[in-house]
Amino acid sequence: MISVERHLRASGATDIVSVSGGKDSTATYLLAIERGRPFVALFADTGNEHPHTYEYVRQLAAKTGGPEVEWVRADFASDIARKRRFIAERWAEDGVSQQRIDRALELLQPTGSPYLDLCMWKGRFPSRKAQFCTEELKRRPLDARILQHQRGGGWAISWIGVRWDESPARSGLARWIRDDGRVWRYHPIRKWSAADVFALHRRHGLEPNPLYMLGMGRVGCMPCINARKGEIAQIARRFPQEVERIAEWERLVAEVSKRGAATYFARDTAPGTPVGAPIRDVALWARLTRRGGRNLDLEALIEDESPPPACQSIYGLCEGAR
Ligand code: SF4
Repeated sequence: MISVERHLRASGATDIVSVSGGKDSTATYLLAIERGRPFVALFADTGNEHPHTYEYVRQLAAKTGGPEVEWVRADFASDIARKRRFIAERWAEDGVSQQRIDRALELLQPTGSPYLDLCMWKGRFPSRKAQFCTEELKRRPLDARILQHQRGGGWAISWIGVRWDESPARSGLARWIRDDGRVWRYHPIRKWSAADVFALHRRHGLEPNPLYMLGMGRVGCMPCINARKGEIAQIARRFPQEVERIAEWERLVAEVSKRGAATYFARDTAPGTPVGAPIRDVALWARLTRRGGRNLDLEALIEDESPPPACQSIYGLCEGAR
């Protein structure tokens, strides 16, 4: 595979690093700086990130001496316009009341958040089984911008910070993978551990995203639809405003869906919650239950009463490892 790199370099390929504000993509960005060649950095803004992440991405270039990060955002304005026509023409035939149709048409407008626009257009939130968010909010807008950066139709090297030990799906991922068109996906840190990733941050004097010191295992949507129970509990305790924001999104998406119902998390997320999985119920379940997840737990109740620690890291970042 060394020959792939040599061939791409000889052809003047453009290096493009995808940044998310998380530890792995930041390490990939730092590695690209160390390689010493010019590169482009892209961030796909889902409109559903924590403010700490936005701030982190905004400051990355200034703190590291690397290139400014370009922001890309998916745009669903034409899909929303098409859905508005569909609602106006077809919902009445399907037995939806005029009052609900009028309300849906009033609400169904681009909001400024790609994530919310996507869900309002689809009339639902993504789920593990229908994880359209990654494709629509990240991969497509990034691919479109990569295409724009390919000099004169030349090759692009798309640097992606994924690691084998993150998930079984990523285990064994090749260093180089030929993608559609004239793009090679490059996975330079695929064999790294999380400790290697944080060590590279330290070498550059760069603090990791503060969310890692606030109990988060991953940085991405706030919350990710695949968030673990412990992470949802942390978010509910530390960032209740994010829970309230998503609760408002649930209301909006429900009102523009023909079923009149939508929850951020899948129905089976929180066993024992009364009606599916509205985020406020899931947040309470995550905070107040432990083993089995069905019954209130005294230990969890006591913990919930006390303020969360100022620093809490599953990566040992609060124990002098920084
Ligand atoms: S972080 Fe989670 S919710 Fe956000 S796009 Fe990725 S899979 Fe979807």
